[in-house]
Amino acid sequence: MTPAQIRLLDALAGTLPPRAIVTDRDAIAPLETDWRGRWHGHAPLLFLPGSTAEVSAIVAAAAALRVPLVPQGGNTSMVGGATPPADGSAAILSTRRMNAIRRLDADAGLAVAEAGVILSDLHAAALGVGRRFPLSLGAKGSATVGGLVSTNAGGTQVLRFGTMRGLVAGIEAVLPDGQVHDGLAALKKDNRGYDLTQLLIGGEGTLGVVTAATLRLVPAVAARAVAWVGLADPAAALALLRRFQAASEDVESFELLPAESLGAVLRHIPGTRAPLAGEHPWHALIELTAADTARELPAAVIERVLAAALADGLVADATIAASEAQAEAFWRIRESISEAERATGPAAQHDISVPVEAMPRFMVEAAAACEARFPGSSASGFGHLGDGNVHFHVRAPAGVDARRWFAEEAPVVTSFVDDLVVAAGGSISAEHGIGQMKLGELERLSAPARMTALRAIKAALDPHGIMNPGKLVALAPGGAGE
Ligand code: FAD
Repeated sequence: MTPAQIRLLDALAGTLPPRAIVTDRDAIAPLETDWRGRWHGHAPLLFLPGSTAEVSAIVAAAAALRVPLVPQGGNTSMVGGATPPADGSAAILSTRRMNAIRRLDADAGLAVAEAGVILSDLHAAALGVGRRFPLSLGAKGSATVGGLVSTNAGGTQVLRFGTMRGLVAGIEAVLPDGQVHDGLAALKKDNRGYDLTQLLIGGEGTLGVVTAATLRLVPAVAARAVAWVGLADPAAALALLRRFQAASEDVESFELLPAESLGAVLRHIPGTRAPLAGEHPWHALIELTAADTARELPAAVIERVLAAALADGLVADATIAASEAQAEAFWRIRESISEAERATGPAAQHDISVPVEAMPRFMVEAAAACEARFPGSSASGFGHLGDGNVHFHVRAPAGVDARRWFAEEAPVVTSFVDDLVVAAGGSISAEHGIGQMKLGELERLSAPARMTALRAIKAALDPHGIMNPGKLVALAPGGAGE
């Protein structure tokens, strides 16, 4: 422990209950490595506050003693965002004990959830009052409200309901000096200047600790239909999506997969099988849901749109899930891609976005450019076509030494891909954030205006640089910017 950490421990020992302060190595160790196992940090001290008042006391004392804090929820960050620095200078502040749903108001369509509430528990609680929280992702069994807010998480329903930015109606947070910002009231109109709530959303723990959020709920699903479609190329997929959106407001998900991704799942994930008999270069997974059964049902919309698309030759083949079990089997293929591709071999992975209408062309041209520039590699994107966001993977040539390839080749591949993304007017982080993984690329590729503003905001709210150092925006060591 550093001298400052020892003083912090002394300062808080009389204020916090014993279970809120942890120094046991075995308890802390699992929190020091990220979900992907790519970043390994070290924190001699872990705080487990049980209330906003306790978070405030911890942050105020840490600020006074200049001890950096790393907020952590479910530790499922894809960019090393919740991993402490390796030098042991920081303490982890986990929200795991703050897991109460303070309020569920079905009529208002609002839930007030503490930061440590796990997404799947929020889903279950909302369903219990006939509502749902319309954001889901593969890590729903671990990811927390605080982490989802702080990464502005997306997922598979953004097409219809937007990212966390649109689903948060209010926030309670402890700012870097320990003051509590109480912004939980769900105000439809509020023009008191800069929007602190929106600053904290996507702030990756660098501007304070989110302690609770007011979240928007929507009516529960009354009818659902899921289809799997074989297509010639991403342009046909986008044309099909536009037809669906013109036909119905109920389009909830539209996920695109190349044949390589489907093949990887079928090879590596036991119990999966191809939804269509023939082979197709591209596949789309489409879901429509309705909250009431008074208008045309999702299954009827899907049948109508697909029949026309098949007749026009826009779609090569299609099948509609005949049961909930079959619908879940289709979704399992989609949700297993990351795991299956990991088993296939090393790959440089990029969570990127470009304007939606530009995405089909980008996917085809960027893949060809990568394969030409890195002989032996194969490249393709999969995911949220309708959001203009795909996970673009460049797989290493067969037989390479994975460790060497990741150390020497993958960064070159990533710079190449990121340059293509920027040239297409896109973003090098669509939904996973910057964390420590993309900090260098953000600096390299951002216009000065963006970086100046990011640093100024960070320095203004966190002048001593104690909140999640080394993530999202780098300040000069010891404090407030350059
Ligand atoms: P953590 O990983 O603990 O933290 C994430 C960041 O938020 C860190 O910077 C941390 O410091 C900060 N943070 C955490 N809690 C707080 C708090 N209370 N106050 C302030 N800062 C805080 N993301 C998507 O957007 N879409 C997806 O489809 C998606 N799928 C995923 C699938 C898998 C299998 C996995 C592992 C991750 C996926 N993610 C996805 C990544 C996503 O960012 C996280 O799952 C989730 O948003 C993070 O929640 P968490 O509680 O685990 O946060």
